[in-house]
Amino acid sequence: MANNLQTAKLGFYGAAGGVTGSNHLLEAGGVRILIDCGLFQGVKICDDKNKNPFPYDPRAIDALFVTHAHLDHVGRIPKLINEGFRGIIYSTPPTRAIAALILEDSARVMGYEAKKDNHEPLYREEAVQRTLEQWKTTPYHHDIKLGELSIRLRDAGHILGSAMIEIVHGGKKIVFSGDLGNSPSLILPDTDALADVDYLVTEAVYGNKVHEDQKNRTELLQGVIEDTIKRKGVLMIPVFAIERTQDLLLELNDMVEKNRIPHVPVFVDSPLAIKVTRVFHDNASYFNDEVAAQIKGGDDIFKFARLRFTERTEDSIAIKDVPAPKIILAGSGMSNGGRILHHERNYLGDANNTLLLVGYQAVGTMGRALEEGAKTVNIMDQDIPVRAKIVTIGGYSAHKDVDALVEFVANVGDNLKKVFVVHAEPGAAMFFAQRVRDYLSRDVVIPREGEVVEIEF
Ligand SMILES: [Zn+2]
Repeated sequence: MANNLQTAKLGFYGAAGGVTGSNHLLEAGGVRILIDCGLFQGVKICDDKNKNPFPYDPRAIDALFVTHAHLDHVGRIPKLINEGFRGIIYSTPPTRAIAALILEDSARVMGYEAKKDNHEPLYREEAVQRTLEQWKTTPYHHDIKLGELSIRLRDAGHILGSAMIEIVHGGKKIVFSGDLGNSPSLILPDTDALADVDYLVTEAVYGNKVHEDQKNRTELLQGVIEDTIKRKGVLMIPVFAIERTQDLLLELNDMVEKNRIPHVPVFVDSPLAIKVTRVFHDNASYFNDEVAAQIKGGDDIFKFARLRFTERTEDSIAIKDVPAPKIILAGSGMSNGGRILHHERNYLGDANNTLLLVGYQAVGTMGRALEEGAKTVNIMDQDIPVRAKIVTIGGYSAHKDVDALVEFVANVGDNLKKVFVVHAEPGAAMFFAQRVRDYLSRDVVIPREGEVVEIEF
C-alpha cells in the first residue's frame, strides 16, 4: 500500500499514570476509535475525575472497542452515551453480557448514593439501556472493517470474554492489551500469542511484582476448609463477582465430587456473582480445553452437593439459621460493602471461624485492616472483636506478573517499535519499563494522562 507512512494519533485519556479509568483514542485510517471507557476508582478524587467532561467530542467518535467487562474498563460508557456518542460499541458476547450486569449494578449503587448525599448520579439506568442498544458482539479472530482499518479481537485470558484489540493499517499493527490473564487460568484458555506487532499498548498492573506459586493454592484451600470443618466453624470468603467466584466454585466442585472434603453447605451469597455465574454457565465455549472436556463428560461445574445460590434477601438472611460447619462466598471482595459484612458481623467474633482472603485488598478497605491483623473492626456502627482465623492465599491473581509481562512483550515479534505502558501505578510502570529496556532492548514510553503521541501507522 502507498499509504504506509501515514501519521496516526494516539491519545491516552485514562489508566495513564494509574490503573483505573481506562480510555485510549486512536485516530487513524480516516476514523476515530476508542479503546475502553472505564471508571476511575479508588480514592475520593476519582469521583470528581469521573464527572469531568471527556477531553474529546464523544459525537465525533466512530466506534468503541471494549476489552473486558471490569468496571475500570466499561464504567463510563453510559456517560459517553449521555454526552452524544452514537457509534457502535464492539466486544465479545460474554463481555457484553457481563458488562450489562456490572453497569446495571453500578447505576443502581450510584443512584442510591446520589439520593443519600443529595447529588446527581454520574448516570442512571436509562443510560445503561441505551448503551446496550448500541452494543454489538463479535467473536474472537473475526475481522471488522472501519475506514481503512482492519480490527480483530484476540483472547487476553484475563476474565471471561476478555480481549486484546488488534488493529491493522497499511501493513502495520498496533495492539491494545486490555488486562492480561495470569495464564494458565483455572477456567480460561491462555492469552493468545501475537505476531508482527509494531506498537503495543500494554497493561502492567503487576509490573513490579512476582506472583506466589499458583500450584499450591488448591492444596492450601483444601487445608483451610478441612481445618474449619474440624472446628465446626464458618468459613467466610469475600469474593469478586467475576472470575474469582467461578474459579472457587470450580475448585469446590472438584473437591466435593472427588470426596476430598466432607459435604458441607456452600452458599454463594451475592446477587451479582450469581448472575455472572449464569453468564459463565451459558458461555462454556469460551472455557479452556480441560474444563470443556470436564463439562462434556457430564459435569456441571457450577453444581455440586449442598451448593446453594442465595439471590433473594430472605434466603441470604436465612443462612444464619443453617448450623455450622458451612462455607459462605459473598461480595464485596474487599469487605467494603455487600452481604459479606453481615456474615463478618455475625462470625468474626468466634475463634472457630475463618475468614479467607483470596484477592487484593486495597489500602483503606476493611479487608486490608483484617489482613493486617486488626483486633476489632466496626461493622454497621458495631465494634466487632476479631477472634476468627484470618488466612490469605495468594496465587489467584487474574493478571500477569512482571516475568510473564516481559515474556509476553518478548514474543510479539521483531517489528516492535514502541511499547506504551498503561494500567499501572507509576512505580510498577517504571520498573516494568526498565525491565523491557534492559532485557529486550525495546523503546518504552509511559504516557501521562492526556498525552497525545503521533505514530507512523
Ligand atoms: Zn480487568
